[in-house]
Amino acid sequence: LGMVVAIDGPAGSGKSSASRGVAERLRLRYLDTGAMYRAMTWWMLQHDVDLGDAEEIASHAWEPKIRVGTDPTGPTITLDGEDVSGPIRSREVTNAVSAVSAVPLIRQVLVEQQQDVIDDGAIVVEGRDIGTVVAPHAEVKIFLTADPVERARRRTSEGLAGEAVSADANQAEMARRDLFDSTKGAFAQALDAVVVDTTELSLDEVIDQICRLTVS
Ligand code: C5P
Repeated sequence: LGMVVAIDGPAGSGKSSASRGVAERLRLRYLDTGAMYRAMTWWMLQHDVDLGDAEEIASHAWEPKIRVGTDPTGPTITLDGEDVSGPIRSREVTNAVSAVSAVPLIRQVLVEQQQDVIDDGAIVVEGRDIGTVVAPHAEVKIFLTADPVERARRRTSEGLAGEAVSADANQAEMARRDLFDSTKGAFAQALDAVVVDTTELSLDEVIDQICRLTVS
């Protein structure tokens, strides 16, 4: 079994860029578990599933065929054979993803798939529950945080699939998603995670810190 680096944290903490950067530098594979929840959500939207009905969501949990590529220089994701890397970043999916990821059976199905990917060898895995649920035995556990205003600013400059959204709107949307995500209980921070506050750090500095914790 290869080394696992678990990187958890809220939206806009810089998780994705940092995780990819660490994987590239240490020549490890990379898995974005949020992308899998997003693909699952895109499927539900495409199939007109009532997102207010947890039982209906759960009844479809096994239908979507999600495949992820783990090259950090070009991660890929397909849904039923189709590239969905664009649509999963849409505002529509971002607004709906919390409702889908709150369904226990959805989590069970995706966690199992994530663990299968992890079993194939050394990897950096990013998400919300990696250090606690998906890979509790990870050699390295990082919890990234950042000041909420800075997180909203980053999300705005990311451009969310080209849509123009104000920093205020982003901050409100993220606060809502964080509250929803954290009250589901799955996202308690692992007790053995190292907390890295990225507010004042450049991306390179964040990558440096995580790499240092990983090789030491
Ligand atoms: O990381 P990202 O913002 O793409 O994640 C999208 C959503 O997927 C999160 O807001 C959360 O609801 C869900 N998620 C999750 N567990 C993970 C990763 C993401 O529930 N491990």
